[in-house]
Amino acid sequence: MTGAGVVEAGGAMQGAGSGHPPLLEVIDLSAGYGPYRALFGVSLAVVAGSALAVLGPNGAGKTTLARVITGLIRPTSGRILLDGEDVTGERAWRLARRALRHAPEGRSVFASLTVEENLLLQLGVAAGGAGTADALARAYELFPRLAGRRRQLAATLSGGEQRMLALAPVLARPPRLLVVDELSLGLAPVLLDQVYATLRGVREAGTTMIVIEQRVHHALDLADHIVVLDKGTVAFDGPAERLDLGTIGPTGGTARGS
Ligand code: ATP
Repeated sequence: MTGAGVVEAGGAMQGAGSGHPPLLEVIDLSAGYGPYRALFGVSLAVVAGSALAVLGPNGAGKTTLARVITGLIRPTSGRILLDGEDVTGERAWRLARRALRHAPEGRSVFASLTVEENLLLQLGVAAGGAGTADALARAYELFPRLAGRRRQLAATLSGGEQRMLALAPVLARPPRLLVVDELSLGLAPVLLDQVYATLRGVREAGTTMIVIEQRVHHALDLADHIVVLDKGTVAFDGPAERLDLGTIGPTGGTARGS
C-alpha cells in the first residue's frame, strides 16, 4: 500500500476534499548510512491536524525516517513535500523555522546546566526575553516534576526526568508539525501515561504529529493513521482500526498493553 492509503484514511480526507495538499508528503523515499540502505521507497502522507504513528520492530527504519523528514540526514532518492513545497534535502534548522520540530529519542540535555538553564536554552530565548516567562511557565505546567528541580543539574536527574527535560521545551512551544521519536524509551509506565496525555493535549490544540513508537498501545490511542515499517519498507498504511497487530512483528506486537 502507498501513502494514498493514509490520504484515504479519515482526517486525511480533509486535505484531499479541501483541495489543500497534505501538510507533509513523503514520496518513494530511500535513505541509508554510507553503503547501508535503511529505507526503500517509503511513501506516506500526513494531513494537517492528524496524528500518524509509525510502528515497527527494531531496525525497521523508523528513526531513519524521522531523521530524513526532519532534515538530519539526506535521502538518497525520493521527495519530501511540506505544504506541497519540495523540501527534500533542506537543512534541519530551516525546516525548524518552518515549524517542523523533532523530539529525538534519548535524553538530549546539557548535563552541566541546571534544569532551568536547559529549558531557557532550548526555548531559544535569552532569560527575560519576550515570551520566555510564558514558555517556561508552560514547560513547568506540562511537567510539574521539573518545576521542583529547576536549580538541579541535569546530570543529576533520573533518566525519566532527563527525558522530560528534553521534551518540555518542544511541547511548551508546539510546532505545526511535531516528529516524536520513541517517547517510551526510558520512561516508567506512569510517566509515559502522563507524557502521552500531554501529547494528546498538544495535538488537540492543533499540532500535527508523527509519533514513532515501539509501544503500540500508546501510539494507537493517540494516532488516527498508522504506518508500519518493516525492513525499511511500508508493510501497512491505513487507519488504526484496520491494523492487524501481527504485521508489526515481535517487538511491536508484544508491546500492546504493556
Ligand atoms: P529501533 O526501534 O531499534 O530504534 P528503528 O526502526 O528506529 O529501530 P533505525 O534506527 O532507523 O531503526 O535503523 C534502521 C537500520 O539502520 C538499522 O539496521 C540500523 O542498524 C541502521 N542504522 C541506524 N543508524 C545508523 C548509523 N548512524 N550508521 C549506520 N547504520 C545505522
